[in-house]
Amino acid sequence: MANKPKTFYYGTMMNNKELPWYKRVKRWGQTNLTEIDPLDYNADFWCDYWHKTAIQGIIVNAAGIVAYYPTSFQNQYKAQFLGEKDLYGQINSLARKEGLAVLARMDSNRALPEFYREHPDWFCHNSKNEPLVTQGRYLACVNSPYYKTYLPRIMEEIISLYRPDGFTDNSWTGAGRHYICHCPHCQKKFLTETGHSLPEEANWEDPLFRIWVKWSYRCRMENWDLNNRITQQAGGKDCLWLGMVNGNPVNTLLNFCDLNEVGKRSQIIMTDHQSRDGVTGFEQNSLNGKLLHQVGGDHIIIPESLAQYVRGDLTFRRASNPKEESHLWMCSGFAGGISPWWHHVGARQEDKRQFNNTPTLFQWHKKNEEYLYDRKPIANIGLLWSHENTDFYGRDKGKERVLMPWRGFTRAMTRHRIPFLQIHADRIEEYVDKLDLLILPDLVVMSDSQCRQIETFVAQGGSLIITGRSSIMDETGMLRSNFGLADVMGVNYRGDSLELKGSHPNWDKADSHDYLRLENRDKNELFKDFNETDILPFGGNLTPVSPREDSLWVCQATHIPSFPIYPPEFCWTENLHTDIPMVFTKLHEAGGHLAYWPADIDRCYGERALPDHGRLLANTIKWAVKGDLPFTLRGPGYLDCHLYRQDNRLIFHVCNYSGAEVKPGYMDEFLPVGPLEITIKKPCPGWKPLGIECRVEGKNVSCIEKGDSLSFVIDRVIDHEMIVIEGSSF
Ligand SMILES: [Zn+2]
Repeated sequence: MANKPKTFYYGTMMNNKELPWYKRVKRWGQTNLTEIDPLDYNADFWCDYWHKTAIQGIIVNAAGIVAYYPTSFQNQYKAQFLGEKDLYGQINSLARKEGLAVLARMDSNRALPEFYREHPDWFCHNSKNEPLVTQGRYLACVNSPYYKTYLPRIMEEIISLYRPDGFTDNSWTGAGRHYICHCPHCQKKFLTETGHSLPEEANWEDPLFRIWVKWSYRCRMENWDLNNRITQQAGGKDCLWLGMVNGNPVNTLLNFCDLNEVGKRSQIIMTDHQSRDGVTGFEQNSLNGKLLHQVGGDHIIIPESLAQYVRGDLTFRRASNPKEESHLWMCSGFAGGISPWWHHVGARQEDKRQFNNTPTLFQWHKKNEEYLYDRKPIANIGLLWSHENTDFYGRDKGKERVLMPWRGFTRAMTRHRIPFLQIHADRIEEYVDKLDLLILPDLVVMSDSQCRQIETFVAQGGSLIITGRSSIMDETGMLRSNFGLADVMGVNYRGDSLELKGSHPNWDKADSHDYLRLENRDKNELFKDFNETDILPFGGNLTPVSPREDSLWVCQATHIPSFPIYPPEFCWTENLHTDIPMVFTKLHEAGGHLAYWPADIDRCYGERALPDHGRLLANTIKWAVKGDLPFTLRGPGYLDCHLYRQDNRLIFHVCNYSGAEVKPGYMDEFLPVGPLEITIKKPCPGWKPLGIECRVEGKNVSCIEKGDSLSFVIDRVIDHEMIVIEGSSF
């Protein structure tokens, strides 16, 4: 594994030409070549577009599934209309003349039947020895000579001909986790490395399958390291090979991409997350940036491919995405430390509106580079995630089991303007003295070591929010007899199944028509803003637990079980009280505030976005951090806020998603919000603000200092704003 320098280079070295490309190139472009493009690639048009968008590097299709240069490898498929041309070479030369960095793009995992017939053992086979075929092409196995020797030779050829700065690979992870390849190479490698024969089928209950899952992650990272050895040996130490990754910690894992391991190895992370989807909102892009910086470091560049074509429930590769939709997704990325990278599919376009989507924002990015890199996020809350939880708890229901609780918290914190970091559960100890609160969003799978790190965090005064069945499974996916965190939680598990009951919209089935009864309502910070109600709707799952006698837990809400919803005459319950706990809180002797929600309101909020649930989550968080947050913002709107520090400078992003916080749909029109009153805690004692500038509206504002904070008002935010607060600690 490459050792990664962890040095910071604030400001001063920003535009140094001496820096290697991966520390220098901030804006990227990619015309994803299609087979017909060699016929009439319009070099003048694209060169002009490179200038208009101020890009410094391009990604050009080279080889893999389709080659765009005259390769000497007979079985490497060439683009249908390439003929005798060398389109890759032509674009490579043009970019070099313009001073751009060039990455050769590989999309490597499929080949035609002729190739398969020559080397059948290089391709994936199931346990019945049938090859894996998709769209008439055969899927290559990541453990076969196809990946181990053939692709390396192709990359060496490309390096010898064109000297690209590096490589990206779109499909380096090969077949996903539902496909167990039984090719001879997999059989031998698995036996040698684990002592077992391959499992026959994907069965989460089978420990052997779970061993195969962990082994499969390691196989992908082996290829990552192999490819880097090849490209660096042939092309020099800066010729990096970079697999594309996705910043959503749930989705990305379905393909055995270990983000934590990628982060450890990376000096730059190329990411592919081109739009919001039916679950996540615009804030998903700032989360991508934050998470990838968390695994790779604050100082690295994270370019992200940004679709200029229509994406959503349906994809239209040749039509322009609504400009506002593309625009806001990019703004969200900037707020999370993402570098922009436009992406068009095909060099000739009939819908030319897509070329208006990027130039203004790319030029803004160029002007503001100084404030967008080498900065540290300010937050005192960590939201935990892990690969093992997604695999061994999520299994084939990752969306409802893992993504929804995580989404519930991320949405609640965005909605209520609470900054946070996404921390991999193996890295808790790095944050023991840096964070005030850790959140476990139904983090069912936890290793003994992770549990001990949590205990240490609490023993040192940290606060904790736990939901659902967190820690009931170990890291191999085995069910424990009690919570791994039973001591710190002070409750015992009384359940026997991990199944979620689901909910029925059918009014004749009233089993989701249940409620929380708020106890001690008036004196309870968790129920702030709920003065006029004794009950709140629930509709989720309740983990059966019993508190230990000496646990000091205070039960703050009890369960009102489901009762008829229809006909309305039967829909009543009279002051029903049970002793079934929905949420406990306690003040820990070490100083932290602990909250445990057996009721999965995080999952409920992720699934249905009922404001009551979001407010309950936000109130619990504010109580747990004792009201101590780095900033507050007052004013209307669904706003995504991020605060960073660069030495004595503070940078505050506000992205305005108002009107676009629900799906389905597209951003069609920006709805300006304001005025917004912002209060920020000073970063250290003795720090004085020297000036505040809004870098989008282009205005200066004045502030009022009060104790350890400063306050100011900005009149409005249309799409996004970046507020730069210069300061001095003298
Ligand atoms: Zn195989």
